[in-house]
Amino acid sequence: TSPSTDTSLSDVTFGDTALPHGNTTRVKAAFVILARNSNLDGVRQSMRQMEDRFNKKFNYPYVFLNDDDFTDDFKELTSAMTNSRTLYGKIDSSHWGYPPFIDQERAKETRKKMAKIIYGDSESYRHMCRYQSGFFFRHPLLDEFEYYWRVEPDINYYCDVDYDVFQMMKDNNYKYGWTISLTEYQETIPTLWETTKDFMAKHPEHLTNGPSSLRSWLTDDGYENYNGCHFWSNFEVGSLEFLRSKKYMDYFEHLDHAGGFFYERWGDAPVHSLAVAMMLPKEQVHFFNDIGYFHNPLMHCPTERYLQKNCHCPASKNFDWDGWSCATRYKNLDPGFVWDEETYRRK
Ligand code: GDP
Ligand code: MN
Repeated sequence: TSPSTDTSLSDVTFGDTALPHGNTTRVKAAFVILARNSNLDGVRQSMRQMEDRFNKKFNYPYVFLNDDDFTDDFKELTSAMTNSRTLYGKIDSSHWGYPPFIDQERAKETRKKMAKIIYGDSESYRHMCRYQSGFFFRHPLLDEFEYYWRVEPDINYYCDVDYDVFQMMKDNNYKYGWTISLTEYQETIPTLWETTKDFMAKHPEHLTNGPSSLRSWLTDDGYENYNGCHFWSNFEVGSLEFLRSKKYMDYFEHLDHAGGFFYERWGDAPVHSLAVAMMLPKEQVHFFNDIGYFHNPLMHCPTERYLQKNCHCPASKNFDWDGWSCATRYKNLDPGFVWDEETYRRK
């Protein structure tokens, strides 16, 4: 059974010190919001809900990142949303832009050819996806943190989250948490799977094998093709240590040199998800069934304890069992999978 089903979490060992739950040692964690100044209203909407539903009790800091300077207006109006620390960082130009090995003419041609695909003609979207794939966790403002919770502008949180999510992640040794999964548009990733298979052949030492492996979630035909299943990365709670690890960085470098962030339109969601499914045992991946969440156009609305958590999402709009969702495949991977979030909760 996975550690998540162990309800005897009255004492948890942190290093060599046993601390009872309710301890005051805080997990080193932060919300990370990549945004432009023009996202101000949307960021404030997201923060309002994060504060009301979760953070007013836990006071985790926010880290805002931007490829441009944040305006004083942005800083004032976002800081005013929370009692927690707010940190604002400008992204170094070496982390946002073209690496020297990319042919920018070819990248431009690609954008023209992909104009019919969502964000297919966007240059900035590609820089964003590459940044979220390989750089945000290396921003100096994140050096002090072990875990992150990604927040985007214009999202909704629909239910109270009355336990310390980061503490729960740490107690259970979870490295990655998600709430919505779906299949990617194949037109955005024509060679991502081949490139990933090359990586697996080159670095078998980085893979998790055996019954703990999540790899079979990625394919419906015995690894011939990628089915596109990925965790929707606009919501993520994860371990920065995992992203900073040699195995993750080896994967990112391998993808980056293959050029698909620019010659195709690889998203950070399939990139993170392929890494998670290849490298982390499923015991370290957590489905946040209890968190009601919306990012246009999809919603995860909890079906358990809806009223106790003061949820306000329309339950009929829950995306989990839609044909385009990958939650069914995920559940089928592990017949012992525990869908009831209550057992994960620290009492
Ligand atoms: P979508 O969720 O895939 O539709 O893409 P978004 O437009 O929401 O972008 C994803 C995240 O990156 C959001 O947090 C945006 O605020 C952020 N983002 C996207 N493009 C840029 C950009 O050019 N500059 C900055 N600073 N943030 C960006
Ligand atoms: Mn978004």
